[in-house]
Amino acid sequence: MGEGLARSVLGMDRGEITALVSEAGEPAYRAKQIMDAVYRQRVESLAEISTLPQEFRERLAASGVSVGAARIEKKFSSVDGTVRYLIGFGDGQSVETVWMPEGDGGEAGDGSDAGVEAESGLSTSGAEARFQIPASDAGMEGLLHPPQNRVRPGRSTICISSQVGCAVDCQFCLTALLGVKRNLTAGEIVGQVCAVLKDQQVSPPEDRINLVFMGMGEPFLNYENFIKASRLLVGGVGIAERRMTVSTAGIVPRIHDFGEEKIRPKLAISLNAPNDELRMRLMPLNKKWNLEMLMAAARDFPLRTREWITFEYVLLGGENDLPENAREVAELLRGLRCKVNLIALNPGPGIEFTTPSADRVTEFQNILRGAGIPAFVRRPRGRDIYAACGQLKRTVEVATLPELQFQAISPLAPEG
Ligand code: SAH
Repeated sequence: MGEGLARSVLGMDRGEITALVSEAGEPAYRAKQIMDAVYRQRVESLAEISTLPQEFRERLAASGVSVGAARIEKKFSSVDGTVRYLIGFGDGQSVETVWMPEGDGGEAGDGSDAGVEAESGLSTSGAEARFQIPASDAGMEGLLHPPQNRVRPGRSTICISSQVGCAVDCQFCLTALLGVKRNLTAGEIVGQVCAVLKDQQVSPPEDRINLVFMGMGEPFLNYENFIKASRLLVGGVGIAERRMTVSTAGIVPRIHDFGEEKIRPKLAISLNAPNDELRMRLMPLNKKWNLEMLMAAARDFPLRTREWITFEYVLLGGENDLPENAREVAELLRGLRCKVNLIALNPGPGIEFTTPSADRVTEFQNILRGAGIPAFVRRPRGRDIYAACGQLKRTVEVATLPELQFQAISPLAPEG
């Protein structure tokens, strides 16, 4: 954008749009028209907002207002159906957003489940119906234009980024190699979702869309924008809170703040090691917020009915994947309403660790389950296009190494 007067509607909440409309001397109902156009119809330019008088659209544009839609710069498609998008912003920065369509039913634990307990067997059956936003609340009144004559995808997941790069420096993550360039604005966070929904021709709530804040960046280090984006995704785009999950590397004070939010996604915590010595080595932020502080925050976290905390655990061959580590994890999590998503390392250039064997992964899972902790293996999605967890680095080439080609790390745990 650049100019001081330039303003994007995307990222504005109802109050801000109302102010914009009243500044322009227009009636208040125009605010709802703009909200609907931007968040539900997902227009890319003011010119497309046909509910507004032409003259008003031109006046807005002349005063430096634009939709501020995110631009898809590149798209990489995996053999498993996953699509990695490179999404660009006005200042030349870009992030990655990943689309994971429903797979073959054997992918429980891929992250999509983190947002849908009702379907995961962790909560009472029939709960699902109560989580859905009634069409009227979602402001659906005739505004959506669902594409006709096509098979709707089932449960799909969008993984979005919260920062350009990341400052946290986890030793096994490719994004860390970028460092942090800047925070995304709320509009840029929501813009990723709008761009992908549009490109995939899907619309919540008719299409079941889960959202995970598990892309590039640490959402809790861009807290205000992340929270504002969450509210806009619920109130504007119409994605249910229960279908969203945010993952944090463990920014403890923000976990406390997050628990107090009225509207919030569900919480996932990247545990990755069961003791301070190991966690410090893998995740330097553990020096600032150690396991005792992290676990205290998790225990204090005000869970809602049928809500569980998800702990993610990246398994690194010979580092943190020993049976003894699994027993330590079980001990650490004892008594918590939680589940564990195990992720076998997704490799990448510059990452020194190795991916454990499938047997190792299963053994780790079995120890946790034996201790009464629900544990699932997250199926890697889009490894061949560098779209899997920890692989988001704005890579423009796709993997050519044979060992990266769509490896299976089964057995996959059926979660239902
Ligand atoms: N910064 C947040 C959000 C990113 S979520 C967080 O750390 O939670 C990305 C998830 O992928 C995290 O659980 C992280 O531990 C995991 N991850 C990072 N690098 C990985 C890799 N190379 N292979 C598998 N998982 C990885």
